[in-house]
Amino acid sequence: HRMRDVASSAPYDFLEILVNEKQYGGGGIFNDQATACVDSAFSEYIFVHEFGHHFAALADEYYTSPVSYETTGGTEHPEPWEPNVTANGPHPKWTTDPDVPLPTPWEKDEFERHSHAYQAERARLRASNAPESQMDKLFTDQRTWETKFLGSQKYAGKIGAFEGAEYEPRGLYRPEVDCIMFTRDEVGFCRVCRKAIERIIDAYSSP
Ligand SMILES: [Zn+2]
Repeated sequence: HRMRDVASSAPYDFLEILVNEKQYGGGGIFNDQATACVDSAFSEYIFVHEFGHHFAALADEYYTSPVSYETTGGTEHPEPWEPNVTANGPHPKWTTDPDVPLPTPWEKDEFERHSHAYQAERARLRASNAPESQMDKLFTDQRTWETKFLGSQKYAGKIGAFEGAEYEPRGLYRPEVDCIMFTRDEVGFCRVCRKAIERIIDAYSSP
């Protein structure tokens, strides 16, 4: 494998490939590699998000973006193996904060209305071959709105089980209302994702 030959010039455990590309994009696979474009205004976010997949097997928590994966549209799902999404809203596999109802209420309908409007605009920009700077501007506006909206939810910052995760609007739940695996907001990883990352660091660093 040519890429591994090149990479082996330096000792490493994880590999993230940086692509000289303005168009927004990236990917990450657990135990394999991650990729991120470096000339988008969102490159830093993309790098960290994709590294989360690659390093700690984190699932995408978003569900309103167009992705190439099939969604079932159903409400019954098998329990995902990733640490940060569950199919069991009333009894999630992570430890929740006290006094947080399960599943945890949030203004899902309003979030989806806004999200779909942004998706439509994104598709329109792509179809018209608009300059990437316009896409960056759209994402920046979206980030501003979502950061404020999610940050003002009653259970913001609490660990519960918020419906809508891993491409499924129904029947899959994420641990916090916001997280870098959910939006491009500058909120870092939620606490369940952080714990999963720490587990991997411990596995690699403990004697
Ligand atoms: Zn998370």
